[in-house]
Amino acid sequence: MMTGDGRAALDAARALEARIVRFLRDMIAIPAESCREGERCERVRTEYERLGFDDVRIDRLGNVVATLGDGPLTILMDGHVDCVGIGDPAAWRHDPFEGKLEAGRIWGRGAVDELPAIACMAYGMAVAREAEGLPDDVTIHLTASVMEEDCDGYCLLHLIENEGIRPDVVILGEPTDLGVYRGQRGRVEATITTRGRSSHAAHPEEGVNALYRVAPIILDLEQLNERLPRDAFLGKGTVVASNIECTTVSLNAVPDSARVYIDRRLTAGESPEGALEELRSLPHIGDAIVSLLEYDEVSWRGQRARQEKVFPSWVLPEDHPLVRAVAEAVQAVLGSPPSISRWSFSTNGVATMGRHAIPTVGFAPGLEELAHTTDEWVAIEDLVRATAVYSLIPASLSRRKEELLP
Ligand SMILES: [Zn+2]
Repeated sequence: MMTGDGRAALDAARALEARIVRFLRDMIAIPAESCREGERCERVRTEYERLGFDDVRIDRLGNVVATLGDGPLTILMDGHVDCVGIGDPAAWRHDPFEGKLEAGRIWGRGAVDELPAIACMAYGMAVAREAEGLPDDVTIHLTASVMEEDCDGYCLLHLIENEGIRPDVVILGEPTDLGVYRGQRGRVEATITTRGRSSHAAHPEEGVNALYRVAPIILDLEQLNERLPRDAFLGKGTVVASNIECTTVSLNAVPDSARVYIDRRLTAGESPEGALEELRSLPHIGDAIVSLLEYDEVSWRGQRARQEKVFPSWVLPEDHPLVRAVAEAVQAVLGSPPSISRWSFSTNGVATMGRHAIPTVGFAPGLEELAHTTDEWVAIEDLVRATAVYSLIPASLSRRKEELLP
């Protein structure tokens, strides 16, 4: 059953539909790959200011942050503002930057992943404030965060560790098709490097071929993948050898080093340290070196962003008050309980829940499987419904603040 609150929220969101659609299409029209989000961030800041949020700013990394209220229960609602590239423009049915409107849908890069969340979270807070005012006991930070597609979680690590924002709960805007998502597999990116000794290819017996030393290790990885555990909720841990390179003085020489790149997905119960230890224990590892890859880029604001490519898996229990609070808001609007699930890909939750153990869930419109495709679209009706749901979340969390505050 839809509740009275749900119906009122839906009516209020529907009255704002044209503005929500305008804002989303404006964001789509500004290309913003990771580390180059400046212009789109300025567009978001303008919208936050138009909506009259208390404090609107761009932090040192380049995240747009708006704050509402000053109560003890701190809620972070995050949508990342960057998108992946478009690939071959000819592969798109509609211009990826047009924000094509057709048959009740909006098309374009970012139409699912995940610009709708930025628009709907902002208008959801506007609806909440207009309806009965935000509850006195909450503080809400809205973020349009940067660099997520390049290094998931870094933007929120920056917010928590360098900008002094310490949320009690986090709601992520990655697509969930209006379900409530409560976990994801993690990831470690690493390399294994073998050393050899160069010699002229005319005399291979005088050298040590680093490629031949890495070859059995690659086959070890294939076998390791078969043995990795499966979790009923998050799925299977996996390992993939994703690239190989070597150094050689010439195409007529024995290579003196070789390196295989590894993408290791971590399921529930697997730790990054454990995954690295497994690599160091591969049957043919010998004296090969296992190393973590590092992310090292400069944000659009000129801030250096650096971290090891370690992204812990995370799961929030289904009966956690945050899951129940968001599910209750969804049910009030949709009239039936949401599906409770998890993402197949990674999100900023690797930082909030994975590294900082801050309860985190996801809720947003859009189909997860359309992310990063040339066919991204979102239904306008779902934008309205998501906006209504977001507007009810502060009150729903406020009712559970005893359970949620430390
Ligand atoms: Zn995303």
